[in-house]
Amino acid sequence: MLTTVIQLSHNIITRINGGPDDLEAEMIVECSMARKEYVRSLIQPFVVFAITAVTVLHALHSDILQTVSISVIIAFLLASLQIRATDYSEPFFRYAVRFFASLREYKILNSKSELPVIITAPHAQAPNADKYTGTLAEMLGKQTGATVIIGKISRLYLDLNRQEANKHPFRKRLRKLVLEKKRPLLILDIHGKKDDKVELGTANGLTADSSILNMVADVLKAYNLDVLIDEHLKGSQEGTIIRSFGRPKDGIHAIQIELPPSLRTPKSLSFISSILASVIKNFCSNTQQ
Ligand SMILES: [Zn+2]
Repeated sequence: MLTTVIQLSHNIITRINGGPDDLEAEMIVECSMARKEYVRSLIQPFVVFAITAVTVLHALHSDILQTVSISVIIAFLLASLQIRATDYSEPFFRYAVRFFASLREYKILNSKSELPVIITAPHAQAPNADKYTGTLAEMLGKQTGATVIIGKISRLYLDLNRQEANKHPFRKRLRKLVLEKKRPLLILDIHGKKDDKVELGTANGLTADSSILNMVADVLKAYNLDVLIDEHLKGSQEGTIIRSFGRPKDGIHAIQIELPPSLRTPKSLSFISSILASVIKNFCSNTQQ
């Protein structure tokens, strides 16, 4: 318990100070788990106590149906405070929100993969998620063995695809992954958009070589998909993932892929996952000759 508290305060202090950039990612994950345990140890007895207390008090005064409903409502409120903490933006909840939100920082797959490919899904967390981008990223990771990192904080709270998230563990871990990977490296940043075309963004050619961008577009087009390139969603704002990490001159090619709703349904996920798997396969075979 004491170790947990020490780890907890260390992490909070590190966070307040901005933290050293080389903060060990494994430690973050460990701390995150330790905090999870810690919060669970605080919340669970509280929930049990609250429900028991209300049940007993209420049973003394009124009928059973009312008692059960009130207990359910209280349990629901407490659970939703934990699960949907990212919804609250009022200053009063700020600290609690920060704390709860930090429990689910990111999910990572194949972190030790030798493949020079990183798949990112920064907007996978509801509410206001790019729906199914997290599931797709996971499928793609399992299919190809590429490294996958999925954001676990709703953009209502913090947009992991913007400068403001630069010191967040998701971005720190991503930075570490980019440093570890061999070159040339491909970063596929997966998003969702509202209209029915796929759009590839490279901030007007800034974040990936045109040969690689064209290869990606050609693969998508071969499956009869309508593809736009750097038209509406270019990812060119400062601090986007592609702009923060894409350095074609240093062999890092980052492409933002905006997928329409039709490609983000449970039925179409394996289709788009196979297409992106071909992209990854092409990239690896073209660059490792
Ligand atoms: Zn997005």
